[in-house]
Amino acid sequence: MSYQISDSDKELWTLIQNQIKERVTPQQYTTWFSGLNLAKLDANDIYISAPNSFCKEWIENNYMDTITPSLEEASISNRKIKFIVENASSSEPEPSVQNSYSSPNTDSPAYINKNYNFNNFLVGPCNRLAHAAALAVSEYPGTAYNPLFIHGSVGLGKTHLLHAILLRLQEKGNKALYLPCESFVNHYISTIKTGDWDNFRNKYRQIDVLLIDDVHFLANSQSTREEFFHTFNTLYTRQKQIILSSDCQPEEIPTIEERLISRFRWGLITRVDPPGFETSVAIIQKKTALLKMDISYDAACYLADNVVSSIREIEGTLANIHKHATMNEGKVDLSLVKQIIRGFSKQKQNIGIEKILNTVTKHYGVQLSQLHSKRRLKSITLPRQIAMHLARKFTNLSLGEIGGYMGGRDHTTVMHADDKIKKLKSHDRNVSYSLRKLEDALTKKNEY
Ligand code: ADP
Ligand code: MG
Repeated sequence: MSYQISDSDKELWTLIQNQIKERVTPQQYTTWFSGLNLAKLDANDIYISAPNSFCKEWIENNYMDTITPSLEEASISNRKIKFIVENASSSEPEPSVQNSYSSPNTDSPAYINKNYNFNNFLVGPCNRLAHAAALAVSEYPGTAYNPLFIHGSVGLGKTHLLHAILLRLQEKGNKALYLPCESFVNHYISTIKTGDWDNFRNKYRQIDVLLIDDVHFLANSQSTREEFFHTFNTLYTRQKQIILSSDCQPEEIPTIEERLISRFRWGLITRVDPPGFETSVAIIQKKTALLKMDISYDAACYLADNVVSSIREIEGTLANIHKHATMNEGKVDLSLVKQIIRGFSKQKQNIGIEKILNTVTKHYGVQLSQLHSKRRLKSITLPRQIAMHLARKFTNLSLGEIGGYMGGRDHTTVMHADDKIKKLKSHDRNVSYSLRKLEDALTKKNEY
């Protein structure tokens, strides 16, 4: 595409790139985003060029949730994102990674956060089992539970637990290797290019413990799953410990084969849940103490009640409060917390829940009473979950309040629904299409 990019578009693109950088790790940025370029920007669309089709697909499947808000920050969220592949006309072979894709630093060790240790991990009913299992495999690798599979939605401590296990094992002198699944995929891809399979296999097979974070990334590459399967078998038969994390249960990983699911089921599968009220309060108190803030009990309770979707969100809010608290000698009281939370909520467009319910019922042709009911037919559960997701996105209502409007459901149901739809959005075309239509209708681009 030969198109002249104006200076102001270039500036906009730099802004978008910076926004993306804030949302991903440096390694993810170098691997997936540094090769992207702005190809064209017009009134309706933004065209982004990717170095090859593998990179394009990977981003479309995994990073739309990162790119979309970055466009919002650059105030161009009304444009549709279109990816094009550079030199696509030169009939790329499949997979395209063989010629043009280079994945940097596949051999450099993953970043390990020393603060993600067992001491700093707060245990509550939401993560007690996962924590106990993590301690057990650190103590008896290869014999306690093999593999250990920890799943749960984002920001609930899976990476923290994996790092804690790694740190404990390293203290004891075990040969343990931790890596995000994406690095495994990258390494596999670069090995296709170099052909150095001995190096690849030695790296993953001559160790005592292998920890792979976010294995749901395996969904996108059949050949990498094949290789992972062999790695798994080799380690398992040698009684080496395997520890995996994922944002969903094994069988919910899209496109995954039965034989891998059954391998994952050989050991222990355990879930981390969103923290309940008491655990949230305890986490808030612990983290504020670490930040040398003095938070009143009612302020901690108010926060726990209003920021419950994940521990990462709690930390984000606390970091924000910290900025304000320094002006107040580190003291955090209820009025300060309310002020800050209200500031957040203003950013939402605040569309009424009634409008959301009306729009969703019309779109799917279901009755409000069906949404309220306990029926679990897919034709009803999907609109119900979509309504909850939209309420989270567009209203200031708390999870409990949304549950109230949805026929008296509790806050964890609303959270799970919200999470589920966010996930479906990235790989289910019907869902993403419906969401787009509904959101357009809600924000009045299109009246129903
Ligand atoms: P995940 O990998 O599940 O997305 P992380 O492990 O990255 O989540 O956790 C997000 C943040 O929340 C991290 O900063 C982590 O230290 C913190 N966190 C998660 N669970 C706990 C816990 N139980 N106690 C203390 N901090 C936690
Ligand atoms: Mg993680």
